[in-house]
Amino acid sequence: MRNIEIFFLGTSGGMPTQERALPSILVKDWKGFNLLLDIGEGVQYRMLKNNVSLASIDVIAITHSHGDHINGLPGLLQTLYMSKRTRPLTIICDRWSSEFIKEVLEVERIPFTFPIKIIEISGEGFLELYSSGGDSLTLYWRPSCHSIEGYMYKLVWKLRPRIDVNMLRKLKVAISGNAIRELLEKGEITYKDRVIKLTDVSHGPKEVSISYTGDTAPCKELVSFVQMSRVLIHDSTFDSSLAEKAHERGHSTALDAANVAKNSGSYLLILTHISTRYKGSEALKLLNEAKKIHNNVIVAWDGMKITLTV
Ligand SMILES: [Zn+2]
Ligand SMILES: [Zn+2]
Repeated sequence: MRNIEIFFLGTSGGMPTQERALPSILVKDWKGFNLLLDIGEGVQYRMLKNNVSLASIDVIAITHSHGDHINGLPGLLQTLYMSKRTRPLTIICDRWSSEFIKEVLEVERIPFTFPIKIIEISGEGFLELYSSGGDSLTLYWRPSCHSIEGYMYKLVWKLRPRIDVNMLRKLKVAISGNAIRELLEKGEITYKDRVIKLTDVSHGPKEVSISYTGDTAPCKELVSFVQMSRVLIHDSTFDSSLAEKAHERGHSTALDAANVAKNSGSYLLILTHISTRYKGSEALKLLNEAKKIHNNVIVAWDGMKITLTV
């Protein structure tokens, strides 16, 4: 089973509450690759509470340098050092976050036992995070429309075609593992004087994507960037009665998020970065607002886990 898990470790915006910690989302795929999107303060406690190994993180992608999205990093670095990590850690971030991280490393003077690779991003771009067994995962970024320099991210898995045994049976084809490998490589093989095409006996290749806006006001770049996301995780700081305030501060309302989901053809919309003014079930106000525009919506809660089978 190929599963991608999205684990919401912090879903508040700006300040923490008893119910919601500061922004951080763990994305974990079936290959065991673990990526954190933002790293708000308190993330270690949230991971421990939810039985997520602190040592498991491969990559941290930070949307921008506002404290609610980055202040959990020094603590996690300290823990990784104390636990004698040797695996490299990659941090992808804007130049301001990069400055912050370099300062922290300099001031704390920790003799790290593992390489910390900081990749400073600007403009639009992408980075292949891994390619293995014909599957790959690439992280794309583009500037968001926030009050300071910030980035939205899109994770795109490209999955190699998968042979379907039932389709082979239907065509009365019985081939060895080596022949299957040849079929995957060449796209066709000859079997008992018949040409068997890969497309006749397989599903895919396919693409699956998860987009995360970070903090952003609505803007036209957003819709084209998150196009056809299987999951769109969107800033939903306020409801539409506070639209002016949201936009002024570089944030979105639940209604804005729903419009982006609808206009981009995205499948599942998850609302996050919830203002502290929505306590408990008051956050359902945001859900109900978004549902008027897009029918597949969830409002995120701390500890919520979404599993996609791909
Ligand atoms: Zn924020
Ligand atoms: Zn911000």
